[in-house]
Amino acid sequence: MRHGPTPAAPTAAPTAAAPLLRARVPLTAAHALTALLALTALLALTAAALLSAPASLAAQERPIIMIDAGHGGDDPGVVEGELLEKDLVLRIAFAVASEFVRAGHDVRFTRTGDYAVAWNDRRAQAEEVGAALLIMLHINRNDDPTRHGAEVYFSEELPASRRAAAAFGEAFAAEEIAVLVDPRPFPFLQSPEVPTVMLEVGFLTNPVERRLLVSESYHHELGRLFVRATEALLTPTR
Ligand SMILES: [Zn+2]
Repeated sequence: MRHGPTPAAPTAAPTAAAPLLRARVPLTAAHALTALLALTALLALTAAALLSAPASLAAQERPIIMIDAGHGGDDPGVVEGELLEKDLVLRIAFAVASEFVRAGHDVRFTRTGDYAVAWNDRRAQAEEVGAALLIMLHINRNDDPTRHGAEVYFSEELPASRRAAAAFGEAFAAEEIAVLVDPRPFPFLQSPEVPTVMLEVGFLTNPVERRLLVSESYHHELGRLFVRATEALLTPTR
């Protein structure tokens, strides 16, 4: 996503990334290895969870959580030094997924590597599998390095997405993470079938948050926060 606009412009439509954000930095071997290790661990966790799942939680009955790592391929998202949003959100996606699997949920990914996925294909993938929730992962930027906190975007017209956004907002606030919950008119947030939240999990331009955003342990903390939000959202209606 474009990360330049401030919350004061909630009706802004998505545009091409600014030239600055188009700078290409190659995926390092370390990044690729980290992603591979995370995926391997996740597959092992998934297998273990499936084997140990009680009959009442058969795979077909468990709600599917679709996890979308933003950007990919030619679109790096936010670039800060050698850090690329597309790589970080993929690592976060794997850590988040492992926490969902650990909690007994079924997860899917819109992408598992460094390749492009069209914005609306992400939504379509979630609809195809009948996902209970689509979580779109992003990292923010701002020219002001003191800007910090999380942002949760959703469609104002869709009550289920509004409820999902509120649950994530409450989960961030419970961890004393500053959070803005704000509607956006982006088409990929408009699924009438799958409640969708777009999460800007922090600012890569903020030195404190940058340290957190590259930390695998923080990725897992985010995952546990997302699981709490999701369970608060799904449990009362089931
Ligand atoms: Zn983004």
